[in-house]
Amino acid sequence: MASQTREQIIAGNWKMYKTSSEASAFIRELLPLIKDAADAVYLAVPFTSIEAAAKVASGTSISVGAQNMYDAEAGAFTGEISAHMLKAAGASFVILGHSERRQLFGETDAFINRKVRRALQEGLRPLVCIGESLTQRDEGRTEEVLAQQLSGSLCDLSASQIARLVVAYEPIWAIGTGRHATPQIAQAAHRFIRDCLSERWGSQAADKTVLLYGGSVKPINASNLMAEPDIDGLLVGGAALEVDSFAQIVYHDSLVSGS
Ligand code: PEP
Repeated sequence: MASQTREQIIAGNWKMYKTSSEASAFIRELLPLIKDAADAVYLAVPFTSIEAAAKVASGTSISVGAQNMYDAEAGAFTGEISAHMLKAAGASFVILGHSERRQLFGETDAFINRKVRRALQEGLRPLVCIGESLTQRDEGRTEEVLAQQLSGSLCDLSASQIARLVVAYEPIWAIGTGRHATPQIAQAAHRFIRDCLSERWGSQAADKTVLLYGGSVKPINASNLMAEPDIDGLLVGGAALEVDSFAQIVYHDSLVSGS
């Protein structure tokens, strides 16, 4: 079982799906279905849906966030969005360093680190994604890659900032592929991540960091993943686009699960 002292979060990442009216309708439909949920529910929506989604979710158990941001405070950066703008639109958290940003848009750990620091400065909770590719796993380099991504994207943070952070372990080979990590593989990676955080920032901070697993999470595998002691929540892509499947994942405890 994941630690009861740590917050548990089920987060959806909508990627480039849903207009603002679709986002509002989704949340209205979801709310009655999750009213007794024990875990916090996060929804990372497209920029254009943040304001509408945050209005519908206001005063409920759903937190609305963004999927990316730029690291500068403000300036001549055509097409970019600042942390301050996200906050003003109603976002309370932001996904940073998703593997699609790293792979398709060339984001580096140093850039992600600047965004993490800016997000914290503006009062947005960063949800930082890390994870290895299939080649890296096959070469036995998973821990080396995770340690590098952690130290690069989180350097300069204080222990109290680490305690507030959400880190998502998302093996690239499991994202959108239908092939999820087994609970044992995911737990081993999460334990390794917590040990790395503990070594650098101390166990008091690392024991508070919320660690999510992401990669082909579905209603059928959610509860077995959540049963692992260092898995404090889930980051869900495809299955977060449908109200029913997302609500079932939020209620993972009551599901009869597969592996
Ligand atoms: C994601 O995009 O973060 C993700 C985990 O996607 P999926 O659940 O579709 O694999």
